[in-house]
Amino acid sequence: AFRTRFAPSPTGYLHIGGARTALFSWLYARHHGGEFVLRIEDTDLERSSAESVNAILEGMNWLGLTYDHGPFYQTEHFDRYREVIDQLLASGHAYRCYCTKEELDAMREEQKARKEKPRYDGRCRARTEPREGVDPVIRFRTPDEGATVVDDMVRGKVAFQNSELDDLIIARSDGSPTYNLTVVVDDMDMGISHVVRGDDHLNNTPRQINILKALGVEPPRYGHLPMIMGPDGAKLSKRHGAVSVMQFREEGYLPEALLNYLVRLGWAHGDQEIFSLDELVRLFDIEDVNQSASAINPDKLLWLNQHYIKSLDPDHVALELGWHLGQLGVDPAEGPELRQVVLAQRERARTLREMAENSVYFYRDFDEYDPKAERKQLTPEAREVLQTLHDGFSALGAWDKEALHEVVQHTAERLDLKLGKVAQPLRVALTGGTVSPPIDDTLVLIGRERSLERIERAIA
Ligand code: GLU
Repeated sequence: AFRTRFAPSPTGYLHIGGARTALFSWLYARHHGGEFVLRIEDTDLERSSAESVNAILEGMNWLGLTYDHGPFYQTEHFDRYREVIDQLLASGHAYRCYCTKEELDAMREEQKARKEKPRYDGRCRARTEPREGVDPVIRFRTPDEGATVVDDMVRGKVAFQNSELDDLIIARSDGSPTYNLTVVVDDMDMGISHVVRGDDHLNNTPRQINILKALGVEPPRYGHLPMIMGPDGAKLSKRHGAVSVMQFREEGYLPEALLNYLVRLGWAHGDQEIFSLDELVRLFDIEDVNQSASAINPDKLLWLNQHYIKSLDPDHVALELGWHLGQLGVDPAEGPELRQVVLAQRERARTLREMAENSVYFYRDFDEYDPKAERKQLTPEAREVLQTLHDGFSALGAWDKEALHEVVQHTAERLDLKLGKVAQPLRVALTGGTVSPPIDDTLVLIGRERSLERIERAIA
């Protein structure tokens, strides 16, 4: 079976590096009609938190990265890890090491003096007797000779000399398993056929392959993704702006835009920029991932976001707009259909947060006018304009765009004013400011009762 996984450690939010790993792993499984597993690597009890688990699940869910199995939690597998450790001890592939810290330090000093690379020299391999008063760690017996070749799906063949890999610890002195052991056991038990992960793990891979071989298991294929960097070429960090997936949501990005953006961090298909998810599933292959690091580009994300705001099904965008209005304390039930607001606003909004902030007046009365707009537009002369408009609107049978437009037009003609001299005071009266969709659309969205009230308030 073709099966990939995403295996985050819940020690923080889902950041864009993790999200890209999840996306590539997900796409690769979907492209091959395989399955995708979510595994939470929570064995580091001190650094893991339920809050992080939730943040990861929330981020995956918002991005639409559905998993077929899981979430599995490594903390539920401790018995199984113990079992495999015992199995490795029994087969002679692992041994107890009683070296004390002082001994290990002395060993390293000697190696340094001989100008050798510091590594555990395997001195406990032959020990048959336990040592009183020392809780041993358990080490994996790495093959002495030969090379372990990682046939990486992204980087090609990478060879590691086994003599360079020391006998790594697979269980600490308190008996708890280490990362390389738990990953190996779970990848094996879950039948993972392809591991896609960040290239910070490349050095672990030969170790994991050796353990799997010792267990008599065919290792999965591995693909290591290049790093993501800031636009300045430095390691990506908070100072480059949003890095958490949910922070991108709060800033008003659509999941479609973020996914499209993430996939281009390391993957390309000719010079095409816009990809739907279906298209990505069809086109994506891990072999096409670039080997070199890619830098984030906030302008491009903004550009993609505008594209998706304008072109996605307005009902879909409306769901996200509703969420943002909620964040602003606005109840979308108190005003026009969200879909209509999206249609009226989508040409001018760069983010959904911006769209929501500029749509509050459709749902809730504003407290005060923008001072500059009030001074400039709500002049004594504007009263006559607003009164005339009010008379015209009040007489209307149907509150529709055409009829409203005609009233505005007639008012301008009657008072011998340019259209702007009529529309702009009206806009300030209706919205409190000078920016809104076309005035007839704005009137429709605000509705009869609220529009008339707001005009009355401006005249009073
Ligand atoms: N839990 C590891 C991490 O978050 C990933 C392990 C893996 O993908 O093999 O870095």
